Amino acid sequence: MLNTLKKYFGYDSFRPMQEEIISTIIDSKDALVLMPTGGGKSLCYQIPALMMEGTAIVISPLIALMKDQVDALRLNGIKAAYFNSSLTNSEKSAVVNALQAGELKLLYLSPERLLAEGGYFMNLLKKTKISLFAIDEAHCISQWGHDFRPEYSALGRIKQEFPGKPLIALTATADGRTKEDIIQKLELTKAKKFVSSFNRANIKYTIYPKQDSRKKLLQLLKGFKDESGIIYTLSRKSTERISEYLIEQGYNAKAYHAGLPQNIKSQHQDEFIKDKVDIIVATIAFGMGIDKSNVRFVIHMDLPKNIEGYYQETGRAGRDGLDSEAILFFSRGDVMQLKGFIEIEDNEEQSAVLLQKLDKMVRYCESVVCRRKYLLEYFGESHEGNCGNCDVCLTDYEMIDGTVLGQKALSAVVRLKESFGTGYVIDFLRGSKSAKIKDWHKELPTYGVGSDLSKKEWSHYIQHIVDQAYLKIDTGKFPLLKLTNKSMLLLKGKDSLELIKYKSPLEEEVSYEVISYDQGLFAALKTVRKELAEEYNVAPYLIFSDKTLQELAQYIPLEYNDLGRISGFGAIKLKSYGMPFLECIQAYAIEHGLETKITEKAMPKRKKQSQDTTLKRTDSARESLDLFKQYNDIAEVGELRNLKLSTIEGHLIAFIETGELSVNDLVETSKKQKIEEAIKSVGPNERLSLIKSKLPEDVSYGEIKAVIASYKRG
Ligand code: ADP
Ligand code: ZN
Repeated sequence: MLNTLKKYFGYDSFRPMQEEIISTIIDSKDALVLMPTGGGKSLCYQIPALMMEGTAIVISPLIALMKDQVDALRLNGIKAAYFNSSLTNSEKSAVVNALQAGELKLLYLSPERLLAEGGYFMNLLKKTKISLFAIDEAHCISQWGHDFRPEYSALGRIKQEFPGKPLIALTATADGRTKEDIIQKLELTKAKKFVSSFNRANIKYTIYPKQDSRKKLLQLLKGFKDESGIIYTLSRKSTERISEYLIEQGYNAKAYHAGLPQNIKSQHQDEFIKDKVDIIVATIAFGMGIDKSNVRFVIHMDLPKNIEGYYQETGRAGRDGLDSEAILFFSRGDVMQLKGFIEIEDNEEQSAVLLQKLDKMVRYCESVVCRRKYLLEYFGESHEGNCGNCDVCLTDYEMIDGTVLGQKALSAVVRLKESFGTGYVIDFLRGSKSAKIKDWHKELPTYGVGSDLSKKEWSHYIQHIVDQAYLKIDTGKFPLLKLTNKSMLLLKGKDSLELIKYKSPLEEEVSYEVISYDQGLFAALKTVRKELAEEYNVAPYLIFSDKTLQELAQYIPLEYNDLGRISGFGAIKLKSYGMPFLECIQAYAIEHGLETKITEKAMPKRKKQSQDTTLKRTDSARESLDLFKQYNDIAEVGELRNLKLSTIEGHLIAFIETGELSVNDLVETSKKQKIEEAIKSVGPNERLSLIKSKLPEDVSYGEIKAVIASYKRG
């Protein structure tokens, strides 16, 4: 198995579960595989297909996906084909001939194709030597899933028609009910079940309030220069508006939605896949057939309808395992709109299922628990502790006592007789002179009691008050603010309220980690890849993933034989593409005086890991460190680099953990002692804000973090 993996795919080891799944199929047993997008499902049937006699039949719902997979297999020297309506008649008969001659290791078919047309294909397959059946996107068979396809229903016949052949069903998305449905409909009761962790550790999840979202979007995109990404929006119109806006701002973006002519859609998709377009702004119509592995970010401008869809869409980021981001702009306004969309006429039961799914999506956005934990628990998986790679985990929420603030908001709602929306209530609280505010409202005692806060602050706090159910937004025709059964407790002072302190979302910086590979060489290798892709007329990432190119730019192999040690170089790819990449590396190395680091690649695992962490220190952080050593003043470094103090502090604190800086470099001894006492009094794992509350004003969060970092260092 390992030999096959190395020879055809150029990988050195299996991912979790792949090995057991492959053995199960080779033993002629059935398998049900639940694995997240990017988990490596394809290899689970491709390796058995290569090792077993006969042809593997792969059922896949999308034509685009079939072509992509077959292209990828052929580049690795594997005999594969697909049969669908996109082929000409002569191409079709060539495929059938190859199948009958037993030349194909894999054949991709749509479910309609297998089961329809007077049993043509069924009969053909009966006369063919078949190794296995694989059913991709198996959740499409269930009405309980979010992507039901009636044509999948009949796939249950496979088990009856080919009882002895192993069948493997694969999906990246199935809740408990859907899973049971798959098992029942495909007659997989005896199948071995493999449920791998759905955690996509390399994806960072972030949610921003949907305010100034375009401005925020631009700011985010600065962190993804020249990278590939998908921006999802709800409506076709907004895909066009946003893509136009981005183009005006100098980005290389294209729109994609179901209303565009077929040729434009394919063109835009193709340009994206071939790295000719960086950003696709799309409705969810985009992506099902896309396996592009170097998508670095997925941004949702609007609220998705359910967690399944959201997880699948965000899962399109980072299939190559490199750090990637999933960003979502959330507003309650979207919820109302979506509710209208998802109700299905004359089907109360299914409408209820979908509304419940929407509700879970909203709770995901509003809750202050680790995003990953929430997502994994949604899919029935538990997650120990916090992930450290989502906005919730990465933010030190500063809590404030919001009792008085809440009372002000609630009494405004009372005075206004629960008849106005958030905007009006805020204007009223702030004592707006606008003519919009009715004159008699200006006479009321609550008018203007909240003039100390900005509109944005009020909107943040009211939202958070709603989250905690001291107010609710009416679900009727207008989103009016209403009291709840908890309101009176707060108004009468019987309840107190904690609120997350408002922080302007625009102040935050987007930082992006860069693994230390040679950027110039990486760019040069990308060019080679693009040229080869043009020549062979395939997508660049099918030739090599970004990860492979980064490894090349990191380890700089200078001899042909060393290339084989880079992940992604199978025997065929080494032969077909080894030389052009090698020549590029050699030329670059000579020009820039670089030496090979290939021996580091072979280091024992343990050592390599520690090496990787130092390599991963961001270049930006290192620059801060160097300047700090020169000037010994954080403010000065901040000014020189035009970055916020807290950012520089963050950079430097990381070096306390590695031991390259001492805590004494950053914190005065007297302060350090006070901080240590405060930590002792509350315990080291407490929230930073609590520790800070025990200390004098002039002690900063950065200084507290520095001391904690020195503890971690031990
Ligand atoms: P899925 O179908 O589950 O979304 P894929 O089968 O497309 O995932 O695999 C995602 C990526 O991971 C592909 O680029 C694939 O080549 C790569 N991959 C799969 N298995 C391995 C492995 N054992 N080692 C390295 N890369 C792998
Ligand atoms: Zn987290």
